Amino acid sequence: MNRKFYGKFIILGKIQAITGLHIGSQRDISEIGGIDNPVIKDPHTGLPYIPGSSLKGRLRSLFEILTNSKLEEWKGRYPSLTEYSPGSCRTEGRENCGRFFNKRINRGWIHVCQTYEAALNCPVCRLFGASGNESNFPARVIVRDAFLTDKWVERWKAGEEITEAKIEVGIDRVTSQANPRTNERVVAGTEFEFEILYTIEELSHWEDDIKNLLTSMVLLEDSYLGGSGSRGYGKVRFSFDSLEFRPVEYYRSGNMESIIWINVRDKSAVEVLGNFNDLFAEVERKLGAG
Ligand SMILES: [Zn+2]
Repeated sequence: MNRKFYGKFIILGKIQAITGLHIGSQRDISEIGGIDNPVIKDPHTGLPYIPGSSLKGRLRSLFEILTNSKLEEWKGRYPSLTEYSPGSCRTEGRENCGRFFNKRINRGWIHVCQTYEAALNCPVCRLFGASGNESNFPARVIVRDAFLTDKWVERWKAGEEITEAKIEVGIDRVTSQANPRTNERVVAGTEFEFEILYTIEELSHWEDDIKNLLTSMVLLEDSYLGGSGSRGYGKVRFSFDSLEFRPVEYYRSGNMESIIWINVRDKSAVEVLGNFNDLFAEVERKLGAG
């Protein structure tokens, strides 16, 4: 293991619920009158928020699916992907050997590289991290919890409802019995502040990793966040406020002048991705292209 540090990208912006959003809490539900399925709330304020782990997990899983469909095309760029090509399994005794989705979590399968070396050469694990059987690869991306914007906190203080109760009727496929449940969800329009950090550990990787991160954000906008996505919940949209590159000088000598500000204000994820070369030109001049 030979880790290095060349700086960080700090990405700030807003994530807006375009439809009602349900990210469930693990809390015992009996204490909350009438709601079977509450949304997760910040215990200090009682206000709903988006846990960083939920957002990161969803970005990862959508990018895993894309990667699995690109195994052949991408294996030159990311050598670990050859390991997952069908029929290429050389390791004995590994469960689900040779398949990209190789680790079972609850009812589903996810992808995790098993060694540090493999994760370093995998587009998913080097960005989002891997807790393999043999060694761990720390994620290069950090997704903070996303709390309500000041504007929405003010609206809540003024008496506006931030969540609503929605009755969902499930039908038992065998008995045809209706099975109503009350879901709590964050109302459409609500905005949260997101913060995503990326650590540059490899000069030849940062461009690719940031593009992959942006791709996963664009994929999320055309998918859903949280529960009941197939029933219309969880459509979200990102808009960027700022994106700064903080080089080593910033951390070594507190040199604020060394920060490179990338002009992303009010841009969407797809606009940042589509204008990547222009937007990141100055960082590229400083660090070198990937
Ligand atoms: Zn991997």
